[in-house]
Amino acid sequence: MITYEQFCENCKQLEERVANACEKCGRACDSVRILPVTKTHPVDAVEYASRYGFASVGENRVQEIVEKFDSERGCNLKIDWELIGHLQTNKVKNAVERVARIQSVDSQKLLNKIASEAEKIGKTIRVLLQINAGNDPAKFGEDVANTPALLEYALSKKYIKVEGLMTIAPLDENLDVASRCFENLRNLRDNLQTQFKYPLPELSMGMSDDLERAVECGSTMIRVGTFLFGKRDYTL
Ligand SMILES: *Cc1c(COP(=O)(O)O)cnc(C)c1O
Repeated sequence: MITYEQFCENCKQLEERVANACEKCGRACDSVRILPVTKTHPVDAVEYASRYGFASVGENRVQEIVEKFDSERGCNLKIDWELIGHLQTNKVKNAVERVARIQSVDSQKLLNKIASEAEKIGKTIRVLLQINAGNDPAKFGEDVANTPALLEYALSKKYIKVEGLMTIAPLDENLDVASRCFENLRNLRDNLQTQFKYPLPELSMGMSDDLERAVECGSTMIRVGTFLFGKRDYTL
């Protein structure tokens, strides 16, 4: 695990990358937020993020959220947790009880389960719909064509607040592949807003290696792990 000083240094460099990317396409640099991704790192990483002033962290496994969130140090941190990884229905209860937002909602079945667990504890849960905007067979996420139906269903659910869309670009050295995926997500969002007359402000897209492309395509939230915390600790 890196030191807090190193983490601060990485944050400064990341903020510079974001500022440069924003400047290149004429966006205000505060129009893109950074979500530090703490998966595979110990709870120290969440503590660093909190100390630096981030409002939330991203984790991709519910079990890992439970372990960190419920730990003595985790439960005292004033920070929101967001789930960014695939969610199975049998883990929904544990997730809903702990996270402020689920970015990986990709089916009606999942929406149903989230809504019913949220209702049980009287908590409105914020969500993003995860879309497979890069048509990648290796990725989770709803197909672009089925997204209107998924959104319509989500909007019918009490205790669920849809705030936007999320995608993960296909892994490809050619960053134009990522750009196409991000453009697809942005266009889809624009079309859905018109069709449903419902605001979908959040576009969660871009990671350590493709964040400049994401910013160029309108990302409002980049999810960054490796660039901030170093290589992942897969033994955790
Ligand atoms: C791990 C992960 C990230 C962060 O990826 P890095 O390349 O380490 O920045 C972003 N989004 C999701 C969904 C992830 O699982």
